[in-house]
Amino acid sequence: MFKRVVLLLLASAGLALGVATWNAVRAPIEPITSPLLVNDVSQLNPIPVNRVITPTTTEEIVEAVKGHEGPISIGGARHSMGGQIATVGALHIDMRGFDTILAFSPSERTITVQAGARWRQIQERIDAANLSVAIMQSYANFTVGGSLSVNVHGRYVGRGPLIRSVRSLKVVLADGSVVEASPDQNTDVFNGVIGGYGGLGVITEATFELADNVKLKRHDRTMPIGEYERYFVDEVRGSATAVLHNGDIYPNAFDTVHAVTFSRTDDPLTVADRVIPEGKPYRLDRFLGWVVSDWPFGKVARQHLIDPIVFRGEPVTWRNYEASYDTAELEPASRAASTYVLQEYFVPVDRFDEFAAHMRAVFTHRDVNVINVSIRHATQDLESLLSWARTGVFAFVVYYKQGTSARAREDVGVWTRELIDVALSVGGSYYLPYQIHASDAQFFRAYPRAREYFALKRRLDPTNKFRNELLNKYYHPPG
Ligand SMILES: Cc1cc2nc3c(=O)[nH]c(=O)nc-3n(C[C@H](O)[C@H](O)[C@H](O)COP(=O)(O)OP(=O)(O)OC[C@H]3O[C@@H](n4cnc5c(N)ncnc54)[C@H](O)[C@@H]3O)c2cc1C
Repeated sequence: MFKRVVLLLLASAGLALGVATWNAVRAPIEPITSPLLVNDVSQLNPIPVNRVITPTTTEEIVEAVKGHEGPISIGGARHSMGGQIATVGALHIDMRGFDTILAFSPSERTITVQAGARWRQIQERIDAANLSVAIMQSYANFTVGGSLSVNVHGRYVGRGPLIRSVRSLKVVLADGSVVEASPDQNTDVFNGVIGGYGGLGVITEATFELADNVKLKRHDRTMPIGEYERYFVDEVRGSATAVLHNGDIYPNAFDTVHAVTFSRTDDPLTVADRVIPEGKPYRLDRFLGWVVSDWPFGKVARQHLIDPIVFRGEPVTWRNYEASYDTAELEPASRAASTYVLQEYFVPVDRFDEFAAHMRAVFTHRDVNVINVSIRHATQDLESLLSWARTGVFAFVVYYKQGTSARAREDVGVWTRELIDVALSVGGSYYLPYQIHASDAQFFRAYPRAREYFALKRRLDPTNKFRNELLNKYYHPPG
């Protein structure tokens, strides 16, 4: 059986290869842009704004916010995928140049940065002191401000959302005042701004706790999906050495999990680089991504041919190396007719099997081109007002390919709402930085403290200056 699959694969590979290899591996084509058209990495959400500013000082931000009566939107690295960074006619504050590292204390293991700084910059600064970012996404391209405003998470075992590693932050409110907030000071602002999608003000600075940059050894195991929850609870969550973990559910059967754990080790390094070198062309990664998404049997090839090669051996790397992936490895040659996007659902740990079964049914019924479903775990967050982890949760991160036509986008909306209903039915939630398909009822059920957040917004931003497509959809200020 396996031989037949391989033969079929090779035959289809031969056919397909001649047709389009070049399209997949050539450098990405830059989309047509204008400075006044704010778009995100998915290229699905071009939004015309009135003016764009690129501040480098807090004073510039204060003046811009104080002096502007109309809508203001804020952008970081632009990796949210549903218009969270802009609204029509806004003054857009592009934070990418506001990126100075303000203070670094190796002895206190803290760093203070301006909000446009990216994780990568922080890694380059703290690596020599053998320190590491405590909580961040899997990739290092994101800005601190964008990450705080989404309250992101990563693959860190025993850690939860980013709020857990924030000592304090500064934010420019709608009246131009600069407020410092922390878990003990202006707590309402702290808990509202983190995960608040830029709706309360502009985050200008943040201080984070850091972790040790330890050596990590990778090990992996493949198992039927029904065994994963127990495996995670027994072997990963309780492990004294596990630092990073994720499981990948293989499409299209969605019945097998490839669990990958990185554990602390004293073994010698097998990869000498301390962080991944910048500017790599990622031709092979992009080619393999295209094989998995577009080739007949591409998904079977990944599970049975590609991954066994990619995951050979047990490499030993630095934590900072493993945390310095570049989203360039995912970038297709063009996003004009189709694009690669993410979604994410959060499910209480003991409801894993239930959600996974329903998710498989939705994907199969709706014929979704799923490339990967990555599972991560996050601890509870009862602090942030728009918390997505009201209990300890498994996150199901869905990476898939979709068309860009209006019809294709409507179709995605249909199965997205179905999946949100499934997540809600098991006491879970869904993630807000992606396409905005949830109904009002779904949003308020997934985020029961949203009304508290909106009440705070009314108090701090009474004229509704800070806007974007996400807030426009669910926030309905009086009048
Ligand atoms: C390939 C890829 C991988 C991803 N992996 C993960 C992952 O592993 N874990 C995870 O949790 N998420 C993940 N995400 C989601 C990602 O973390 C969020 O989209 C995050 O917001 C990206 O940061 P950014 O700098 O691009 O923010 P942007 O998209 O630019 O902004 C996000 C939000 O933050 C607001 N904002 C930005 N800067 C400020 C500021 N200074 N003050 C106030 N508000 C501000 C914006 O208005 C917007 O509402 C991933 C996304 C992609 C595309």
